[in-house]
Amino acid sequence: RRVSRFSTAAATEELIIPSFQISHTQHLINGKFVDAASGKTFPAYDPRTGEVIAHVAEGDAEDINRAVAAARKAFDEGPWPKMSAYERSRILLRFADLVEKNSEELAALETWNNGKPYEQALTAELPMLARLFHYYAGWADKIHGLTVPADGPYHVQTLHEPIGVAGQIIPWNFPLLMFAWKVGPALACGNTIVLKSAEQTPLTALYVAKLFQEAGLPPGVLNVVSGDGPTAGAALASHMDVDKVAFTGSTDTGKIILELAARSNLKPVTLELGGKSPFIICEDADIDHAVELAHFALFFNQGQCCCAGSRTFVHERVYDEFIAKAKARAVKRVVGDPFKKGVEQGPQIDNEQFEKVLRYIRSGIDSNATLECGGERLGSKGYFIQPTVFSNVKDDMLIAQDEIFGPVQSILKFKELDEVVRRANATRYGLAAGVFTKNINTANYLTRALRAGTVWVNCFDVFDAAIPFGGYKMSGIGREKGIYSLHNYLQVKAVVTPLKNPAWL
Ligand code: NAD
Repeated sequence: RRVSRFSTAAATEELIIPSFQISHTQHLINGKFVDAASGKTFPAYDPRTGEVIAHVAEGDAEDINRAVAAARKAFDEGPWPKMSAYERSRILLRFADLVEKNSEELAALETWNNGKPYEQALTAELPMLARLFHYYAGWADKIHGLTVPADGPYHVQTLHEPIGVAGQIIPWNFPLLMFAWKVGPALACGNTIVLKSAEQTPLTALYVAKLFQEAGLPPGVLNVVSGDGPTAGAALASHMDVDKVAFTGSTDTGKIILELAARSNLKPVTLELGGKSPFIICEDADIDHAVELAHFALFFNQGQCCCAGSRTFVHERVYDEFIAKAKARAVKRVVGDPFKKGVEQGPQIDNEQFEKVLRYIRSGIDSNATLECGGERLGSKGYFIQPTVFSNVKDDMLIAQDEIFGPVQSILKFKELDEVVRRANATRYGLAAGVFTKNINTANYLTRALRAGTVWVNCFDVFDAAIPFGGYKMSGIGREKGIYSLHNYLQVKAVVTPLKNPAWL
């Protein structure tokens, strides 16, 4: 197996690269790191250069079968669901502590394989990863049913039981956080898991799987298979021994997952899909603050966020001022090697996404939106794209309708609140929205009128383990994080027992 190593010797003073080598490239099945059943591997890339950094076991249906068998055994025969909830909670806490201890290596690996700025990974995403497991560790021993009054002499109770084997399929834009959102609640509820990582970013899921072993997670409770969607992913979603499937990714793939689940064993499905989120700036908003947050809402993570504020609606009275400032901010954005200090934007994930984003930029130009800045690739290697701002965008343009998933801000003008609500809601998506105003009545009106799973008021992209996240309409089914995510991984059993001569009902 080819192993890549970072060399600090090659690093300049500005580069902040810890030295380590990629140690885990095989699947984790039943507590052991193993090669693919077929013996095949696929390359993992560095999006800064397009170079191969590791060869990773390529899973297919047979690897999924083996992983599901291990998860099934760990669920049916224990020890995981049979372990006390307190013990499960302690393993989750130990894992969270190991994440904190290893956060520099994890952040570096995330940046190396995904291209996101290292400082962002280290200071924002790794703490969120640990926080999420601390949060769900707290839930593990607080999940319980109810005693229910009935109209008759019966003792009625509900048991909240784990659902069984959870199949989880995650995307490449936040490999570690998507792992956390899926694995945290599933384990807290006592389920076992087969997780398939995204083919673009298989490395950090395997690293944290190793940390789970160190934390004392029994074999078979968490299995991680790397591989492609139509092979490994489809095998997982359609497996008869998988009791539930959770997916994050594109809406098109979400539909396939739902079909596969329906055609196999009718397993319940949660979906976190795409978005085209409106970011509404009213005439009374603090414009400088709104410019900065609208910029962040779109460009954060190279524009590769499902909830990106990708339709910036600006009131006509502040429109010209906003455009001038949004352009100035985008021009100032620091794009470059994501391991360099101060870099705000790294490369797009791969050549496919890079080409797709450039096609959308051409479509914006061709449809006569005004290109305020950017619009080109940056440099000659890797997948860097200039921060791009379009003004004069109309609702029917492709760049105002499709999820671009890149650093392309589209600014639209509006006049009336009713009008902006209608236009903001005129999309098949409903994941998130941002509202900027100093008027509490305007804020209250908009937060209720917008059809989206999250509305941020005078802020954007505020995430926390306790705050639920998910979509209306074609942005998904169900909610992740918070107490709501527990519902995805529990069955409710009603137990009814007759009462003989009860003292009371
Ligand atoms: P995708 O939906 O194809 O991939 C997401 C995950 O699903 C990956 O693990 C992939 O292997 C798996 N998958 C793909 N096809 C499958 C199938 N037939 N059966 C089972 N699993 C399958 O997303 P992508 O190709 O990586 O990105 C395409 C677009 O999706 C992006 O441009 C973006 O618009 C959107 N996207 C959204 C999110 C999000 O968080 N909502 C994340 C990533 C990508």
